[in-house]
Formats: sequence, C-alpha cells, structure tokens
Amino acid sequence: MDLHIGEACGVFGVYAPGHPVANLTYLGLYALQHRGQESAGIAVSDGETVTVVKDMGLVTQVFDERRLAPLDGHLAIGHVRYSTTGTSNWRNAQPVYRSVGDAGFALGHNGNLTNTAELAESLGMLPGMAAAQDLADSTTDSDLVGELLARAYAPEVRSDGRDLETALEHVLPDLAGAFTFVLMDDAHLIGVRDRHGFRPLVLGRIEGGWVLASESAALDIVGAHFVRDIEPGEMVVIDAAGVRERRYAEATPKLCLFEFVYFARPDTKLYGQSIHAARQRMGEELARQAPVDAEMVMPVPESGIPAAQGYARAAGIPYGDGLVKNRYVGRTFIQPSQQLRGQGVRLKLNPLPENIKGKRLVVVDDSIVRGTTTRQVVSMLREAGAAEVHFRVSSPPYRWPCFYGMDTGQRSELLAADMSVGEIRDFLGVDSLAYLDLDRLLTATGALPESFCTACLSGEYPVPVPDIDSKHVLEEDGAEPSPVPRAAESPHPSTS
Ligand code: 5GP
Ligand code: SF4
Ligand code: MG
Repeated sequence: MDLHIGEACGVFGVYAPGHPVANLTYLGLYALQHRGQESAGIAVSDGETVTVVKDMGLVTQVFDERRLAPLDGHLAIGHVRYSTTGTSNWRNAQPVYRSVGDAGFALGHNGNLTNTAELAESLGMLPGMAAAQDLADSTTDSDLVGELLARAYAPEVRSDGRDLETALEHVLPDLAGAFTFVLMDDAHLIGVRDRHGFRPLVLGRIEGGWVLASESAALDIVGAHFVRDIEPGEMVVIDAAGVRERRYAEATPKLCLFEFVYFARPDTKLYGQSIHAARQRMGEELARQAPVDAEMVMPVPESGIPAAQGYARAAGIPYGDGLVKNRYVGRTFIQPSQQLRGQGVRLKLNPLPENIKGKRLVVVDDSIVRGTTTRQVVSMLREAGAAEVHFRVSSPPYRWPCFYGMDTGQRSELLAADMSVGEIRDFLGVDSLAYLDLDRLLTATGALPESFCTACLSGEYPVPVPDIDSKHVLEEDGAEPSPVPRAAESPHPSTS
C-alpha cells in the first residue's frame, strides 16, 4: 500500500496587512522554484474569504499580473510541488483547500507521511484493496491531512477564532513521518514542523509582518530578515496579536542530510551554516579522502560546483570548466522524443573539448542517484578527448529509498542499491571512482552529526517505513520495478 505522492516541495507564507501579500508569495515561490517545478499555487485571505489559485507548471507559467491582481488580502500561503512524471496531476497541486469553519482553510505540505494507510483507515476510507487503489489514484497524503483537519473542526465556530489551531492540536500527534506545513484561514498564518524536522522551515520578519519559508534564501528575496528556524515539533501561529509558538511534540532533530548535499539553495543557511560553504568543505574532505594525480578539477554543473571548488583548493589542482549547462533547462520542458532521448543529457550539458582534450580530469558531483546522467556525462567527456576521468562524489552511495519526501525512486532504480563501488566504476566507465564517507560528510556540514537523517545513505530510518521494496508499487498501473542496472531511458525527474 503506497500513497506516496507528496514529494519534496517548497512552502511560503506571509502575514503583512497593507502589503501586497500575493505578490510577495509569488516572489517567495520563485525563489523556491528549485524545490518543485510541477505545480504552483497561492491562497490569499482578505479577512473574509480564502481564495486559492493553482495550476500545473512553473511559478512564472501559473501566475502573471492578471492572475495576481485580484488576489487582495493581508495573509497568504504558497506552494511549489515536485514529483515524478508518473504522478503529474492537477488534483495534486497545492494549497489544498477545505471549506469548514468561517472561511475554510488552506494547507501546503512539504514532506511525506509514513502512516497514510492507517490514517486513511481511521477515516473509514480504506475498507478494502479496491478502495485503497481509489485512494491512491485520487488522494495525496496532503489531502488526507486536509480531511483529518476538516473533521477535527468543532461543529460550532469558536468565538476566539482558533478553530484551525485547535484542529491541528488534535491531528498533529497522529501524523508520522515528514511534514512541514504552512496553513491559513481567514485570519491566521500557521507554520508546523514534524518532531524530526526532516524538511526545513524558517521564520522571517518583514516590515509590518512575518514570513514563513522553506529556505532562508526566500526571505532575502522578499526583503525579509531571518529570525529563527521553526523548531522540530513546533507550531507557530501568526495573527493580529503577533507570533505565538507552541510545542506539540518533543523534538528529535533529523534534518534531511540531502538538503545539505543537493537540495537546498547554496545561498540558504541551515542549522546556522552556509550551504555553499558546507558544500565546499565536502569537496575539501573528498580531496583528503580520495586524492588523485590530475591536471584539472571540474564540476558537473551546477550542483557539483562548490564541492569541485573545495576539492581543487584542497588538492592544489587547477579548477576549470569542462561542461556548460543550458541556463534555461527546467522540468516542464517538453519530454524529448524517442530519437532525442539518447541526447538527453546534451540538452542540459555540453562539453568544452578545448578544455578537456588530452587531460587527466577529476570530475566532481554532489551525488549519483540513478546513474543515468553520470554515465552520459562520462561518455561525453571521453568523446571530447579526456585522457582520464576520475569521478568524485561529495556524498556516500545512495542505496536506500527515501520515504520522507525526496523522490529518488524505488530501491531497484538506485544505482548503488546492489552494486559495489567497483561495479559502479565499471558501469560508469571511469578510471577511478570515490564517494565521500558519511562521517566526513557529516563533519563538513558544521552541524551536529546526530541531528541528521541519513537513511538513504546508511539504511538507518529514523521513523519506521513501509516495506522498503514496495515503494511505488501501486503507482503507474502497478508497473514492476525495473531491474538493476537500469537502461539509460529514464530521464532524471529534474535537473540540478
Ligand atoms: P544520475 O547520474 O543519478 O542520473 O544524476 C546525478 C545528478 O542528479 C547529480 O548531478 C545530482 O546533482 C542530481 N540529483 C541528485 N538528487 C536529485 C534529485 O532528487 N532530483 C534531481 N532532479 N536531481 C538529483
Ligand atoms: Fe533526506 Fe535521505 Fe533522509 Fe530522505 S532518506 S530525508 S533524502 S537524508
Ligand atoms: Mg547535479
């Protein structure tokens, strides 16, 4: 049973009477676009009505002046959603809206619950397998939370206006897994993180109000300044009376380590650490752990850049560019036709033969997930005349599927799931291959090692997960997992 749909996403919220909150939310989502390219949505309240506008596509495709202009109000939330191609669906766009209480409420979710089946059952939505299939087809775990909250609303509207807050107090203790929420009704903006804080959420101050955002970089872009992280197990409520916080669960911080490795923007800070600087330190550690005699260190752009800089610096080898990335590559890009599929990576990355030819290269990237891109990158470098290709990865082998909101596919899709590093080296066709050790990676973050989830790299899941091999089994008319090693036909869900 798998309701795995709510993927890594970006959330934003603003409470600022007298300010153009829909426009600020648009800018916030634009800054968080890397966290989700499939759909975008904004909900706004003018104090009486909550209005939701959402659609498939990038933020700039969903919203324009004409669509933003009527969204008047003093508080708003926004959401960008990411998922695999298989689950692209308008119904899954967020914010989710439920019409209860005075004006209803809206919800944006980043993360993935691990007990959706039990929750659905508790709602009487799962009498048998047929119903389970229905639910999988039409309901995301975020919808499920919307439904649980709607049912937890008291029949009478409360005189203090705290209906949504009260419903959350009832529902939050029952949720397991990863959830960062932004929620709103007509008068309140609410931010929530699960007790492990798998996904980030920060509080910022803006003239005349407050902002919530997945990443601190989004605060910079709307002219807000960072106040603090929302704590794991914490709920903050923002309204006319200011900000009040409430702890609903004891915190056991387990921030997603992959936020540091790949997902978060380099100009974001997590655990008080600059992501860009942390990635450079990862590269430095990698140079110490796996040195190689070479003439040039080059990144796989863009995500490999800071680690390659760090590697070059620590190794004393010149840094150079061997690949150019198309700046406008994005996910909602039309899927290439069959005959262009083989060219897939070339649409994103093209080599600079004059920099590569005859050279012994260290090629640095942040991670290898399916191996599809990496394999094509290596063969392009060879074609361009590289004498040697020494691949260095600034994170350990990605061996275990994520159940907490990062959609990297089922176990059989992961290159490192059943292959040794030597086998991967041969599969990629490189002269040497090394992955950064987990303890060195944790050191490079600059944060406490025990404050991270490392499940995809270590197999140690901080929250129990459903059967690891069953991930995605109900998706796509029950298609069987592909055998390992997979062919180069599945394009990466998005670009780095
Ligand atoms: P692969 O060789 O696994 O096909 O691709 C490796 C590249 O994928 C790396 O450059 C890495 O930055 C990127 N990557 C890592 N994790 C993710 C992810 O969750 N989504 C996307 N779109 N790319 C990722
Ligand atoms: Fe992040 Fe990996 Fe944990 Fe998922 S399993 S939350 S990707 S560290
Ligand atoms: Mg990348």
